[in-house]
Amino acid sequence: MHIMSDHYVKVKVQLEQLKSTGEVEEADTAEEQVPKETPPASLSPLPVALEVRRDASKNPGTARNRSKSRTKLGNYDKSPNTKQDAPVSSHLDNVPSLQVKGTGKVLQEKAEANGNVVTSQPQKDIKSALSKEDANKIVKKRRPVTVDTSKAKTSLEALKLSIRQLKWKEFPTGRRAACDIYWHGVSFHDNENIVSGQVNKFPGMVEMLRKINLSRAVRTMQELFPEEYNFYPRSWILPEEYQIFATQIRLARDSDSSSPRQTFIVKPDSGSQGDGIYLIREPSDLRSMSTGAMGGSGAVRQAVVQEYIQRPLLIDKLKFDVRLYVLVRSLDPLEIYVAKEGLSRFCTEPYQEPSTKNLHRVFMHLTNYSLNVQSGNFVHSDSRNTGSKRTFTSVLGRLAAKGADVKRVWSDIIALVIKTVIALVPELKVFYQADIPPGKPGPTCFQILGFDILLMKNLKPVLLEVNSNPSMRIEHEQEVSPGVFEYVPSPVDEEVKVGVIRDTLRLMDPLRKQHTTGAEQEDILMEEGSVEKAGPEDHALPSLCLKQVFPKYTKQFNYLRMVDRIATIFLRFLGVKGTMRMGPTGFRTFIRNCKLSNTSFSMASVDILYIDITRRWAGMLPDSREAGMTLQAFVESFFYLAGRRFKSLPLREQVLSLLEQCEAALEGQGQDDKPRPLRAPPINPAQTNSPAPARRNHGYRLHQTLRPSAKANPEH
Ligand code: ADP
Repeated sequence: MHIMSDHYVKVKVQLEQLKSTGEVEEADTAEEQVPKETPPASLSPLPVALEVRRDASKNPGTARNRSKSRTKLGNYDKSPNTKQDAPVSSHLDNVPSLQVKGTGKVLQEKAEANGNVVTSQPQKDIKSALSKEDANKIVKKRRPVTVDTSKAKTSLEALKLSIRQLKWKEFPTGRRAACDIYWHGVSFHDNENIVSGQVNKFPGMVEMLRKINLSRAVRTMQELFPEEYNFYPRSWILPEEYQIFATQIRLARDSDSSSPRQTFIVKPDSGSQGDGIYLIREPSDLRSMSTGAMGGSGAVRQAVVQEYIQRPLLIDKLKFDVRLYVLVRSLDPLEIYVAKEGLSRFCTEPYQEPSTKNLHRVFMHLTNYSLNVQSGNFVHSDSRNTGSKRTFTSVLGRLAAKGADVKRVWSDIIALVIKTVIALVPELKVFYQADIPPGKPGPTCFQILGFDILLMKNLKPVLLEVNSNPSMRIEHEQEVSPGVFEYVPSPVDEEVKVGVIRDTLRLMDPLRKQHTTGAEQEDILMEEGSVEKAGPEDHALPSLCLKQVFPKYTKQFNYLRMVDRIATIFLRFLGVKGTMRMGPTGFRTFIRNCKLSNTSFSMASVDILYIDITRRWAGMLPDSREAGMTLQAFVESFFYLAGRRFKSLPLREQVLSLLEQCEAALEGQGQDDKPRPLRAPPINPAQTNSPAPARRNHGYRLHQTLRPSAKANPEH
């Protein structure tokens, strides 16, 4: 009895305090807040190359005679992850136990704007009598976490299930008052009116993960850390790198004519689901990049051409890839979780190494579900370890049975994920600051990403791409009789995807107690049964299927975050809120504050450097409206300055030395020192003696300036 009343006292105090911090809404009184190279002149069509075109008649989503076989959510509750009868705790129970052991003191928790929970002063003399009835009233008043699902699109079914399992409250058509969590189907900008809570998309993620931008971001890291970033196939950006691509291939062939011919895969920049992808063996096989839609007017189609992995790991003679879900919980500090379960998607035709005869065989070479499902050989299975879509752990089980080192595979995959996110973070921070400048109350962001990974024959994982909008569908379309299609549940999808969404929500719960997992120097493991510490509120739910990998493995990977440190300097001198580009004054202030100009590098040279690099970048973005220096251009300048100052060192040491020098110079200077409004002397853009020769020895531009795309990215 004594224990009980203590509990109620605790609850009452917490409730009062949460109310005072605005975290608890009184029942019935919810305040209503309204809330260059020129493209080759003629690129001959390739007669035998494979190309994926969508057959409109087969494309799910085209108007067809459909009947929804299952509309009741309750049907989904048979998910293996769902404990249907499990008593999911009420949110009152979810208030983490805050009693300090042995002291009888009660701590209070307060949710910060970023969702973190901080513990503050213990309260004294609170053991006023509180009857059970009073406590029950409090239970009723305690509101559940609220989720706006009005923009969730195709994630909706899995999201609804997750919210039900958590006993949270869904707002399917939005809400006038603010919600705790906003679930968007495409991008951060799906709803522009959010000023608090958390959104499941980061600004800029769609842009960053387009094929060209991902290739550029990884390539910058490859320049600094070639060994660490060798998990991404060699790639060239079209059309601007066509000549380099052609030359490199010719030189490689001339130097070793005995080696087997290489194959390349061409992927349109903003394509997905295998659309427009084809294989080639000769640079001259690249198709004309004039789009038909533009009437052959010469409009350039941007694409990545990439080394084709010829010897993938096969199971049952079939090529497959792995879709792994990764939660970026926060950018700063960086927090990454990896789902312990993923999906393996199988081709539907036995694999053969590429030859001129089979280059066009989509069902042999491309693992995309959306393609293979159209093959007559696709096997829909209710089992997790058969069929054309299986769980990743079932695949690992098969490999382990043959003696493969599965722990090693996991640790390599985790390393690949962390390194890839580290490559993306610097620019994401620039996007973030432009949309949510410091001082703006919110929202904060998190995002589930879909990593597509191929295992090579030697079990080494290779990154194919990262999807900002991975499909969260848990049903597939089936033709039940000629011309009649039904949506039927896909148990494998449901098991994996509902787990990922539900556990993402659990981790983003604004009232969840923070479980601090310190950075550890330990082997990277996805150990069997490893349980992410769940809060007391989670006792009725399965253990979390998301494993924290960062900051957990900070010590192993932090040295890679050099471009991130450059981005911190960039953001500091960026100036005006809302911009993503640095003006000449900001650049001069950076040089001056970091003490980088001297007699041999005058401020006039600084201005010329700025103009030269910025102009080169602007040339790549003819329709760009915003002027100034992008982060990528700044990184290029930084590498140039580092090379100039520390000539004798290798690039990585040069950049590190300059970073240390800049950081030391900036230490102690005010964080908010705005670029001095001194007027830069007029610069004559015609000046040609630029101090900034192309920074890379291969003499081509490595970066492309980013611009937000208004076009919605389809899920893939
Ligand atoms: P999309 O976004 O159109 O799905 P991906 O980059 O994922 O484009 O490529 C589609 C498919 O092509 C992959 O699922 C994989 O099966 C295959 N693929 C892509 N890149 C390579 C590569 N470098 N080597 C071998 N196969 C590849």
